[in-house]
Amino acid sequence: MTAELETDHPAAAIAEAVALKGVSVAYGAATVLSEIDLVVPKSQFLAVLGANGAGKTTLLSVLAGLVRPSAGAVRLGGEAAPREAHRRYRRGLAFIGDDRQIFPKLTVEQSMRLVDCREEPRELFPELELLWQRRVGLLSGGEQQMVALARALAAHTSIVVVDELSQGLAPIIRDRLLGQLRTAASGGTTVIVVEQAVDAVLTVADEGVVLRQGRIIDHRPAADLLNDRDRVVASFLE
Ligand code: ATP
Repeated sequence: MTAELETDHPAAAIAEAVALKGVSVAYGAATVLSEIDLVVPKSQFLAVLGANGAGKTTLLSVLAGLVRPSAGAVRLGGEAAPREAHRRYRRGLAFIGDDRQIFPKLTVEQSMRLVDCREEPRELFPELELLWQRRVGLLSGGEQQMVALARALAAHTSIVVVDELSQGLAPIIRDRLLGQLRTAASGGTTVIVVEQAVDAVLTVADEGVVLRQGRIIDHRPAADLLNDRDRVVASFLE
């Protein structure tokens, strides 16, 4: 189910995939997210940028239903999102956290059988063919991230949310993963990624948001942010 946006955002004519409305999160006395308003249209690739501790993981966790906001609401497909993460997953939102959501003792094949693959995962990542019977716990970090992304994308998840996509991975692997996510977004999947490699992610993203101390301080087309790259990075690091 989709709904028209209620904002005057340039993408307002496009169906909403997921949205945060006035979302705040507090851990005890510490406010970690403050009144976040964010609408992510269907098929958009959104990069989430910000310094350590800015609230990026918390924002993704709120989207996924893993952290409950102290105020505000989350919408999925234009409707109130179900509270629990597993219900959001069933509604098409997959979250890949920094543990990459792997089951180390399962083989790659068994990992894929956990979900209803509508597409052959090895077509998305032919690299997995040679690893198909290997236990996921024995794979490299990059291969594990391919398993995680292949599982989400082959199941035709409509929204893929990835935290620290390329943490610890070589640039060539990072670019491979970003490229596959770009292809997925162009094919209709909504992609939301936290990624430290600012230039690499802004090169493939449609839009970027910059978080600073729990607030969105910038939200623009990725190409604009990339043109303004040094100022953007300084704005969240200062
Ligand atoms: P990083 O890039 O370092 O992962 P981040 O932008 O993802 O940072 P978050 O992990 O969302 O930031 O954390 C935002 C703030 O909330 C930080 O100050 C962090 O210490 C704090 N925080 C996160 N989780 C908790 C928690 N469960 N209890 C208390 N404080 C928390």
